[in-house]
Amino acid sequence: MCEVSAQNDDSPNKASARPATYDRAVPIARCPRCRAEDISADAHPTRLLQNGQTVPVFVCRNCFRPAELEFQIACEANQIPYRPLAIRESLRLLRDFYRARHAASPDDPYVAGALADIERRLSIEPVGRAPKLDA
Ligand SMILES: [Zn+2]
Repeated sequence: MCEVSAQNDDSPNKASARPATYDRAVPIARCPRCRAEDISADAHPTRLLQNGQTVPVFVCRNCFRPAELEFQIACEANQIPYRPLAIRESLRLLRDFYRARHAASPDDPYVAGALADIERRLSIEPVGRAPKLDA
């Protein structure tokens, strides 16, 4: 993982600056599948089939493909047509997820960056596949 120094120089209580390594007040969102990875700023939307209902769920990078495959298998086993999550639907789910994370820990630069990235991607109008005319 990359290290980002989150020095807020406009912080009003600089004197009681928190230790650099630990901030126990930061809520951590863990991947519900492996229960190991922190997905606060790196979540991947997939779905679960629960009682015949499709439920969106966020997993870590490592769990994304197996989770999507598990969902596909669950759909087939239950005669429910499987289709991949549309990209803009994924982005909307991620935006809501990161907004909630950002509200929970507004000082986290990773979460703020992830949210800004998703909002930027959502602001781009959907376009068709780029034609490869001048390839
Ligand atoms: Zn995971």
